[in-house]
Amino acid sequence: MSMTKQIKVGNIRIGGGAPISIQSMTKTDTRDVRATVRQIKELEKAGCEIVRVAIKDFEAASAIKAIKRKANLPLVADIHFDYRLALRAIENGADKIRLNPGNIYKEPEIREVVIAAKKRKIPIRVGANSGSIRLKAQGSRLKAEDLVTPVLGYIKILERMDFYDIIVSLKASDVISTIEVCKLFSKKSEYPLHLGVTAAGPASTGIVKSAIGIGNLLLDGVGDTIRVSLTGDPVEEVIAAKNILQAINLRNFGPEIISCPTCGRCQVDLKSIAEQIDSRLKASPGFVRDRQGSRGKFSLQPSVFSRKVFKIAIMGCEVNGPGEAKEADIGIACGKGSGVIFKKGRILKRVKEKDIVKELLKNI
Ligand code: SF4
Repeated sequence: MSMTKQIKVGNIRIGGGAPISIQSMTKTDTRDVRATVRQIKELEKAGCEIVRVAIKDFEAASAIKAIKRKANLPLVADIHFDYRLALRAIENGADKIRLNPGNIYKEPEIREVVIAAKKRKIPIRVGANSGSIRLKAQGSRLKAEDLVTPVLGYIKILERMDFYDIIVSLKASDVISTIEVCKLFSKKSEYPLHLGVTAAGPASTGIVKSAIGIGNLLLDGVGDTIRVSLTGDPVEEVIAAKNILQAINLRNFGPEIISCPTCGRCQVDLKSIAEQIDSRLKASPGFVRDRQGSRGKFSLQPSVFSRKVFKIAIMGCEVNGPGEAKEADIGIACGKGSGVIFKKGRILKRVKEKDIVKELLKNI
């Protein structure tokens, strides 16, 4: 059992026990520097740590220089079909290059990219997707080996040039294949894995697929950095990624609200109370600090998984309310037009419904 190798992308460490980092990808035309920088800043504010930009032509590759002058996040150049775009992106300061073995596979071309990456001391992500492999398999069902074997072959080309600054992603658009492929790869290689379910769809389904796929792998000790792929605002990808990591206690981005779904027993406007607490906490910078956990492959440490998250219970009635409120750091169990506040397991006071938000915030 060993940890993955540690790779640096800009100032972010990936693998080797580093905290699981969050990535996203801009959806702007990279040649539009102003729009791309604006989106990168939004992503950074949301908690993104590494951002990828699409390089579809030389103008986009050259735009990296201007983008890097104005944006702080490490920048990954996403390259397909033409290896020369990678060379231009590297010249212009890309912090990592993503190559797709499905469309850049000629050894002399890969070699040129490796030489340039080595010179600039930046890593290469070997990013394989089921889509490109499936094309070659003429529609037959994807097996884990179909993706893992060519990627291992690709890595060999890089290693033959003494290049080991490698990150790997193996993505399928279905959850089960993604899990199978990543688990197989992690048994065969020590290179860090970038996890994600590709083309997961719009938020309603994409977050569910990503949470199951990424969460399953991380709980098994597989994966070092994640990207949730959604058809929509990339900020949603970052929020979903943070929620996945916090749900399995790998990182702590702030207090956790435990609130009941409400039912016919509830006699207060619990939805409004929970939403007000949630939005007030998110707006409070003191609570949006991240206590990062770290762990390496096959080494889920109990201390990391039991790390303390501040819990706030907001419960609708006496059925589950007092139990959850007592368990939390602070909680309220509501009744008819009022609620009982619990702090560290003890009853603090009874308050009227109109004062619940104010009193909870004061005590939080
Ligand atoms: S805690 Fe009470 S109000 Fe909330 S869902 Fe359970 S029974 Fe319904």
